Amino acid sequence: MIEKRDFYINGQWVAPSAAHDFTVINPSTEKPCAVISLGSQADTDAAVAAAKAALPGWMATPVEERIALVERLVDIYKTRSEDLAQAMSLEMGAPLDLSRTSQAGAGAYHLKNFIRAAKAFQFERPLGDHAPNDRIIHEAVGVAALITPWNWPMNQVTLKVGAAAIAGCTMVLKPSEQSPLNAMIFAEMMDEAGFPAGVFNLVNGDGVGVGSQLSAHPDVDMVSFTGSTRAGTAISKSAAETLKKVHLELGGKGANVIFADADEKAVKRGVLHMMQNTGQSCNAPSRMLVQRPVYDQAVETAAEVAGNMAVSNAMEEGRHIGPVVNEVQWSKIQDMIQKGIDEGARLVAGGTGRPEGLNKGYYVRPTVFADANNQMTIAREEIFGPVLTIIPFDTEEEAIEIANDTPYGLTNYVQTQDGDRANRMARALRSGMVEMNGQSRSAGSPFGGMKQSGNGREGGVWGIEDFLEVKAVGGWAAE
Ligand code: NAD
Repeated sequence: MIEKRDFYINGQWVAPSAAHDFTVINPSTEKPCAVISLGSQADTDAAVAAAKAALPGWMATPVEERIALVERLVDIYKTRSEDLAQAMSLEMGAPLDLSRTSQAGAGAYHLKNFIRAAKAFQFERPLGDHAPNDRIIHEAVGVAALITPWNWPMNQVTLKVGAAAIAGCTMVLKPSEQSPLNAMIFAEMMDEAGFPAGVFNLVNGDGVGVGSQLSAHPDVDMVSFTGSTRAGTAISKSAAETLKKVHLELGGKGANVIFADADEKAVKRGVLHMMQNTGQSCNAPSRMLVQRPVYDQAVETAAEVAGNMAVSNAMEEGRHIGPVVNEVQWSKIQDMIQKGIDEGARLVAGGTGRPEGLNKGYYVRPTVFADANNQMTIAREEIFGPVLTIIPFDTEEEAIEIANDTPYGLTNYVQTQDGDRANRMARALRSGMVEMNGQSRSAGSPFGGMKQSGNGREGGVWGIEDFLEVKAVGGWAAE
């Protein structure tokens, strides 16, 4: 059993101020795999004080030096990539191949994109030709609390830490207590890279404890949060007392609009995308809207793809999906599947209970509902499991109306071979991101949502700007 009870504060691994063990469960087996500590107010205070003390020095460090440290971090990251992949598969159940490629791979990818964006970014610039004595200075927001979820853990940690470090913020990371091991490996890398003491701190804890202590803390200037809409609301409320900046990356209920002229792989691609990471992605295309002429065929294909999907232990190599993260999520997903049945959607693949042959582990049957409407619970709420909801439509206008009729606005998807229509759809869909015909967004593209999907933008130059204040100076002397 892994025992990792210490926190990383002010450049050192330190014991928690009071013992409060927390057992991390391996979702593939339901057995304990690690023990960590949950921090208390004294640990939060110590980490915030270290970050506050390190802030003036780190802000004053030339950006080239901050970038150079992130470059060293990338080199170290590559050597620890397998450790990260193993940790994530063990603690949150992403299948090993996915952990090695997308889950661990995302970290180095984001860090490199930040480095490129930072090198091109003007941290200081004139206001414009009309105002030669005005300067715009982009300066660090200050001490940032970074609160991350378990579903794409290293992706989230690097999106926040990389941007904050380059911007000149000091920080306290509180990773999800469900998946703390990868973040602790990451803290070892930050230490090895040589970031000055106090620039980066890590305290483990749960949401009601360290999470809310950070969001209410008077010495924290900003909270960058990724997770559920519920927690995003709680954080916004407790941060309001001290009027700190709050950047939120929350849930989604993405529509994947498949027109009759979509390419022949569109449905299969949509189902595989939905089921990736066992459906635990905020940008999952969880509502498949299909135009009537190709509807029956799409339902048949989707049922077949889901029906053929292998489910097994996350630590095994090969093509399969793993378990969902924990018992709470498993039960919630079971309830949602039952609601889909009760509310009258047609179950064409999967269903409640575990897949055949698996009686231990938080495994869910890859499930597809057809003939749903957009008012059903399975079309409105984020299920966060391998459950796809298919809804028919007739016209482009109707597809837009259904797609936008949701409290969320993270990512929508469009499948059509008509370029004009694709572009019209991209403009009409109310979401922070739109991806068309299976083409993902390129390096440095901003990730984030509208409406109840949040307000932040992560990745590339936008991700760095989220950690910067804009200072306007008049009367700047000629240099
Ligand atoms: P969660 O909200 O329960 O937990 C996320 C983090 O917040 C954890 O570290 C948790 O300890 C902490 N937390 C929980 N309650 C808190 C509180 N009251 N105050 C402060 N911190 C608190 O979410 P989760 O179950 O870990 O993650 C899944 C959710 O995250 C899904 O809804 C998913 O859509 C969302 N998500 C969004 C994005 C995005 O960028 N939009 C990316 C990944 C995940």
